[in-house]
Amino acid sequence: MKAAKFGGSSLANATQLKKVAEIIKTDPTRRFIVVSAPGKRFATDKKVTDLLVELYQKRIKNEAIDELIEDIFAHYKEIGKDFQMDASVLKQIYQSLVDLKELTMEKNPHFFDEVLSKGENNNAKLVAGVLQSEDVNARYIDPQELGVMVTNEPLNARILMMSYKLIHRWRDSTEVLVIPGFFGYTEKGEICTFSRGGSDITGAIIAAAMNVDLYENFTDVDGISAAHPGYIHHPEPIREITYREMRELSYGGFSVFHDEALMPSYRAKIPVVIKNTNNPEHPGTLITNERENKEQPVVGIASDDGFSMIYLNKYLMNREVGFTLRVLEIFKDFGLNYEHMPSGIDDISIILRANQLNPQLEEDLLQKIAYVIDPDELHIIHNLSMVMVVGEGMKQRVGSMAESTAALARKKINIEMISQGASEVSITFGIHQEREQDAIRTLYYTFFE
Ligand code: ASP
Repeated sequence: MKAAKFGGSSLANATQLKKVAEIIKTDPTRRFIVVSAPGKRFATDKKVTDLLVELYQKRIKNEAIDELIEDIFAHYKEIGKDFQMDASVLKQIYQSLVDLKELTMEKNPHFFDEVLSKGENNNAKLVAGVLQSEDVNARYIDPQELGVMVTNEPLNARILMMSYKLIHRWRDSTEVLVIPGFFGYTEKGEICTFSRGGSDITGAIIAAAMNVDLYENFTDVDGISAAHPGYIHHPEPIREITYREMRELSYGGFSVFHDEALMPSYRAKIPVVIKNTNNPEHPGTLITNERENKEQPVVGIASDDGFSMIYLNKYLMNREVGFTLRVLEIFKDFGLNYEHMPSGIDDISIILRANQLNPQLEEDLLQKIAYVIDPDELHIIHNLSMVMVVGEGMKQRVGSMAESTAALARKKINIEMISQGASEVSITFGIHQEREQDAIRTLYYTFFE
């Protein structure tokens, strides 16, 4: 039994819908279908969710939304145009958009959520209609009826544990269930969306709740590559990867999944495969709890820029009880979230995203550290990139670190920081931003090709 999620680009027009219908028809074990809102039809087009954001902005300024309603509806009309669908489906979609003119804003903390939810909700109705016209025994199901219950956090909902049992009741449904992604209902019955890109979260929740054998995430690429194609020409595709490796890669700039998206399927130990709607025969990238192939030590090279590092050194620091605690307390008081903290006997480097800082805050922070800690040396370095070598196989293998540092040295790339946790899933190198691309290339060619 499989759950399949189709992203916006897979549902942008009638041609894409035909491929989706074919994919569903060819495999009757694809029983739970989660859909995003329609994506872009051409490069300069706007996604339906982005049009709904505009619609919301116009409504709060009391501007007319008639034109936007027509624009949004045009997406759905185009998707449905080649199918002999029941005419009532498009009528219902149009009506639901027109109803947005009257939707109450005052004292409605879920107004924005409700507007945004129309993108996926209407698309699920449309996809169900299309599938029915193609003789698939499919039905649209509202997340409330299904049991997708979420916390009351507008635009940032989280799933409530009770949902899993509720959703599970539908496991033996004889119909193919077409489920809108991206939103659920609070216990009071209000619509609440996950954060942007949240249809992936719905997909993983449904997969976990139904305890499927495989969660297929259909998009427009043949899976994940071992490095960013913007840096490496035709990087090798990744066939299989563990959840932990995936997490490290997505931290390091691989924006395949929404950060929390895989949590439900990870906990339920359900394998996920990323597949291409335009090339469904391609095996894609399989994400599992345990990787079969351990021979490949490294699965990918990732990176992200925009980091700053605060370095402090104090002679005999290692003898002071509670030293690190005092340092981190200062970060907490300033509301700063740090991401890495490699340390030596007498020094610590604290690495954080630079977008949390401003010149005033930086000055206050350093002053506070100087006052409370009285370090011998204290400075801050900006414009750092974190380049990560990721792979669970490094644990079983000697020399990955040596090969990495040797490769960076050959390119005369100065390493400001190295961090490797005991789990050995990844090695992170802090380097100057302008050398990021060189670092990725040299590390990639060290472990691949
Ligand atoms: N349509 C929503 C967005 O664009 C959710 C999703 O597609 O996953 O953010």
